[in-house]
Amino acid sequence: AEEQLRQSQKMEAVGQLTGGLAHDFNNLLTGITGSLELLRARIAQGRHGETERFIAAAMRAADRAAALTHRLLAFSRRQTLDPKPTDVNRLVADMEELVRRTVGPSVTLDTVAAEGLWNTLVDPPQLENALLNLCLNARDAMPEGGRLTIQTANCVVDRRTARERELSAGDYVMLRVTDTGTGMSAEVSARAFDPFFTTKPIGMGTGLGLSMIYGFARQSGGQVRIASSPGQGTTVSLYLPRHRGKASGEAAGDATAPSQAP
Ligand code: ADP
Repeated sequence: AEEQLRQSQKMEAVGQLTGGLAHDFNNLLTGITGSLELLRARIAQGRHGETERFIAAAMRAADRAAALTHRLLAFSRRQTLDPKPTDVNRLVADMEELVRRTVGPSVTLDTVAAEGLWNTLVDPPQLENALLNLCLNARDAMPEGGRLTIQTANCVVDRRTARERELSAGDYVMLRVTDTGTGMSAEVSARAFDPFFTTKPIGMGTGLGLSMIYGFARQSGGQVRIASSPGQGTTVSLYLPRHRGKASGEAAGDATAPSQAP
């Protein structure tokens, strides 16, 4: 009975949140539709000089709607995260073979593991998933082959940088995936985190990879940033908060701690 109560309270909270978001979302859609109608009327009247204002209003509303979906996505991740102290270097090393096979022989894979890398507290399968997704995106961006670099580093984020990167100041473990592929235009990188945004042919992309990574990073108390320009390749950096403790399985008594009886 207690479990049921907890469950129904949780559902109520989810309902309130999604209800609120749906309401906000609907308001934004109304704004977009309204702007487009005004735009159509101006064009029909031949008053082309006045169109820019309505386009700008629609774009602003669309951006805010996208930000809302990010929040919703971050929330929906929350239930499923099971964070554990994690050594990202080891996780990368464990994935290396799989990544190598996935990207194929035309892509040269380099891994640069920082010495003395801090641990972080994340859900390991989700981080593996994120890393694999980033490598798949890199592969797709290098149809002719190229270089894929997976790099880790300890990263101290000061206040100014924190503001810039929309993070809290503090210590982070950085996991960075760099490719020498096509890169993204400003338009594409602005929308890359939007759920269902894809530039790939139907059936080739879902447009969910980066939005899920975004949700995962935010939910883990971190951040994800893209640096990309057309023809220059792409760098995606995941910032994951430092955990001042041993990683699971790193020392006796940690991973092998007996599980609690119910
Ligand atoms: P998907 O890969 O299914 O399209 P994502 O959310 O992972 O979905 O990526 C969204 C879009 O961002 C891609 O369709 C692509 O246009 C762009 N993108 C992502 N990663 C890269 C990359 N490494 N290089 C170039 N473009 C990229």
